[in-house]
Amino acid sequence: MTTLLTGANGLVGSMIDADLRISGRDQVDLRDWYSTERYFRSHSPDTVIHTAARVGGLGANMNNMADFYYDNILINSNVLEASRKFGVKRVVSFLSTCIFPDDVEYPLTEDKLHQGEPHFSNFGYAYAKRMLEVHSRALKTQHGLDYTCVIPTNIYGPHDNFNLKDSHVLPALIHKCYLAKRDNTDLVVWGSGKPLREFIFSEDVGKLTNLICQYYTGNDPLILSTSEEISIRQAAYTVAEAMGFEGKVVFDYSKPDGQFRKPTSNLRLRDFVPEFEFTPFNEGVKKTVDWFVSNYDTCRK
Ligand code: GDP
Repeated sequence: MTTLLTGANGLVGSMIDADLRISGRDQVDLRDWYSTERYFRSHSPDTVIHTAARVGGLGANMNNMADFYYDNILINSNVLEASRKFGVKRVVSFLSTCIFPDDVEYPLTEDKLHQGEPHFSNFGYAYAKRMLEVHSRALKTQHGLDYTCVIPTNIYGPHDNFNLKDSHVLPALIHKCYLAKRDNTDLVVWGSGKPLREFIFSEDVGKLTNLICQYYTGNDPLILSTSEEISIRQAAYTVAEAMGFEGKVVFDYSKPDGQFRKPTSNLRLRDFVPEFEFTPFNEGVKKTVDWFVSNYDTCRK
């Protein structure tokens, strides 16, 4: 069996084993049908794990709405159509909980994906991603293909983007805590520390993806989440402990809290892998902190 992974250099991609790895557009431009088709024709994968996407923070999304829509629609359409054309048996594509409707009843469940407009700040990206689910379902309906989508919550782990300006909260806190320890300053956390998030360790996402490729039949999407809510305050103290930071943790109330919580239900996932043991949050954070410290000079920051 030959597995192809797209987006191999990303946070999730780096945790997934695959025979063939596409890590960037210099290798294969997935926005281009002929480039994508040529690759599939000559490598004939049986399974495709599709994580490649054009991604960006809030500012990038808002300023390039049409580019985010167009590039992601092209990438996703080409990967699924090439998979169909060259007889790929399983495709597992990555979505994200940030593409869910803005006005939605919590907890998020898989069936709510299309029940309302996404947040205005990323609707280009969100609709393009939602079409992955629609296209996979259409391929099931017309051709009986078991192509499916997974929807992880906030993934964290080694190889993340630790840039202080546009990273997510956990890599930002790790980078800030590193600097605070080095420079003997406070660790400054944005907002009140009260908002809640569900974090999932990238290694767990990798393991779950392998299980899904091997054993999950069907086409219904799966939310990948621990369904355990962690406050930003708890996250900050967990990072401080893992870093051995003994200075002060302070909360900057002038910075935005963002959404208070966006819980998900992992019942469908639990039904599929009832015995799966998630990495405890403090262990995952410790591994990520150790990786960041060892790779400080070369990591994305
Ligand atoms: P979200 O999950 O899409 O809302 O995005 P983030 O991962 O960027 O942030 C989530 C929460 O972390 C918000 O409540 C922020 O106020 C809080 N937060 C605390 N410190 C930081 C920080 O240094 N960077 C970021 N990005 N968020 C922070």
